[in-house]
Amino acid sequence: MQHLYVHVPFCVRRCSYCDFSIAVRKRIPTNEYVNAVLTEMRSADPGPAARGGPISTIYFGGGTPSLLPPEAITTLVDKLLRSADPGPAARGGQEVTLEANPEDVTPDHAKAWRASGINRVSLGGQSFDDTVLKWMHRSHDAARIGAAMHALRGAGIENISLDLIFALPDELHRDWERDLDMALALRPEHLSLYGLTVEPRTPLDRWISRGATHAPDEERYAEEYLFAHRRLSADGFVFYEVSNAARDGFRSQHNSAYWSGRPYVGLGPAAHSFDGTTRRWNLRAWEAYRRAIAEGRSPVESEERLTGEQQELERVYLALRTDEGLAITAPYRPLPPLMSRGWLVEHNGRLRCTPEGWLRLDSLVNELDMHTETQQ
Ligand code: SF4
Repeated sequence: MQHLYVHVPFCVRRCSYCDFSIAVRKRIPTNEYVNAVLTEMRSADPGPAARGGPISTIYFGGGTPSLLPPEAITTLVDKLLRSADPGPAARGGQEVTLEANPEDVTPDHAKAWRASGINRVSLGGQSFDDTVLKWMHRSHDAARIGAAMHALRGAGIENISLDLIFALPDELHRDWERDLDMALALRPEHLSLYGLTVEPRTPLDRWISRGATHAPDEERYAEEYLFAHRRLSADGFVFYEVSNAARDGFRSQHNSAYWSGRPYVGLGPAAHSFDGTTRRWNLRAWEAYRRAIAEGRSPVESEERLTGEQQELERVYLALRTDEGLAITAPYRPLPPLMSRGWLVEHNGRLRCTPEGWLRLDSLVNELDMHTETQQ
């Protein structure tokens, strides 16, 4: 089984909080991009664990993949699927996700995406408050989110995820409860909730340094995160990962592959690949990536082979990120201090994070790790 990630770096502008690897372009260099990704795909050697077998998931992330013309998406889906299985039965049964911004979702685009094999859309809604959307430098307004959901449903896309950002600065007076209610009223199958973080060299970072806004506050972060757990659980969602909640049968198969430590192949600028022991990542900037491919060089910027210790730490971290949890085997026994704080619970022979535990995932994993070291 192969899991493919395709990074589409183009955006029409940079959002105020974003430090992703993007290329702001008015005109998308579609042909150059598609040719570069397909060339990389033909020459990439993802390693034996990631290579081979049918493709089970493809994820177009970005950037803004919905800026690509639908024909380009059709070509990419078709060629990527056929690269693994040239026979006529190459298509069918895979989860194929497209990240989309609401303003790009027209009824015609949605129909064309569905025809090209896209069966899951992750929609960057972020908020239903127009003042907040403007502050974020998003290029859609709140009304576009509902219109986009409607267009996707009309095209037969039955698996839609909505992204929302929480823990915004106080002065925006964002009503998180109202935003969650508006999101739920649209009946998405999946929700991804991300707390605002201040990344260096973003517009938000500059606004904070000159005192024009405040850094998000930890208390608000915890309050809104825990409120979302209660509100979404009451609506039938299950948080199956620290930031992701789904209705029954709609967990992201692609992201679940990452979280269970399975190999994957990344194509495009800044994309990461993992073969089970070694992680490789491509040149971040679109121009550098494009040049490397055009000159017949590898676009891989660097790689890191995980030591046994790193692999184990990663396994623990990933297991605790999800509701699968960590098997209670030596040396991971329930630790009285962590259990009494209510951060972990025992469930069917596994340690699972509570929502309070997920709020402190990094420190919890460190504590668990330090404890096991002292036991050895
Ligand atoms: S659309 Fe997404 S990737 Fe592009 S700038 Fe905004 S947050 Fe970043």
